[in-house]
Amino acid sequence: MVLTDLGARLHGALNQLSRASVVDDKVIDALLKELCSALLESDVNVKLVSSLRTKVKNKVKRNLEEAEKAGGKEVNKKNVVQKAVFDELVALVDPGIEPYKPTKGKVNVLMAVGIQGAGKTTTCTKLAVHYQRRGFRTCLVCADTFRAGAFDQLKQNATRAKIPFYGSYTETDPVAIASLGVEKFRKERFDVIIVDTSGRHKQESELFEEMVAISSAVKPDMTIMVLDASIGQAAEGQSRAFKDSADFGAIIVTKLDGHAKGGGAISAVAATRTPIIFLGTGEHLNDLERFAPQPFISKLLG
Ligand code: GDP
Repeated sequence: MVLTDLGARLHGALNQLSRASVVDDKVIDALLKELCSALLESDVNVKLVSSLRTKVKNKVKRNLEEAEKAGGKEVNKKNVVQKAVFDELVALVDPGIEPYKPTKGKVNVLMAVGIQGAGKTTTCTKLAVHYQRRGFRTCLVCADTFRAGAFDQLKQNATRAKIPFYGSYTETDPVAIASLGVEKFRKERFDVIIVDTSGRHKQESELFEEMVAISSAVKPDMTIMVLDASIGQAAEGQSRAFKDSADFGAIIVTKLDGHAKGGGAISAVAATRTPIIFLGTGEHLNDLERFAPQPFISKLLG
């Protein structure tokens, strides 16, 4: 079930609540059942779904009791339930941690990690375009020496977007390239330096060692894990493995325009307690949306 379908089902479940003449336990249970099955079908981790169900139930109970105790006007049960559902859905995508925000007047180094094909190179250029449009002097460093053609791809994207870049056809040591590139752009006082790293095809210890070595060399202000939404439930395990070896401070979820179920990525946020900062919504350089928990859930619910 793609994300828009998930939204439609959640919206439908809440609509049903709005239409109910009385809001009793039966109506609330039916709503929670539909909500949970929609989340499960979207690949959200079963433990998270079950915990969400309990939290909504407890919150509704507590809030109704408090409202009744406060007395006075008739309690609007529907509002209480809707708010509890909304708040818990927001909590699902909000680890409560502020991501790093690049500021002008200093050098901000961002490093992208993730498995091959996740969309790192594309996302690095999208990010560079994003910051450039906001007045940051931005550049790209290609430290992916593993995938043939990675440098050409970055070079092509960067040239199209008129973004300065650094890479090498002859140097095979990614740590050396990353260090030289970041050093050069630091000296030139760029505001945002984005380092693209290699991904191999799956989580391998060698890849993790390489990421740690690049990270020690360039000292990123923020490491971003690029996560392909279309891998579904595997997203959780993958992000845990990356978190354990190459700690990252932010997530960008890509390919949400396709048939991806967004739930795996949502579970990855919970598993690693790391905020999502952007969503990739297409192959074009403009297809990048800023992510914020509340607007995301509001939009999802329609
Ligand atoms: P890397 O190996 O992690 O550097 O991945 P690439 O940047 O080369 O991307 C792999 C493929 O995914 C390419 O064909 C990209 O055009 C595509 N891609 C990346 N991000 C998105 C996205 O948000 N939506 C869609 N539909 N495709 C994407």
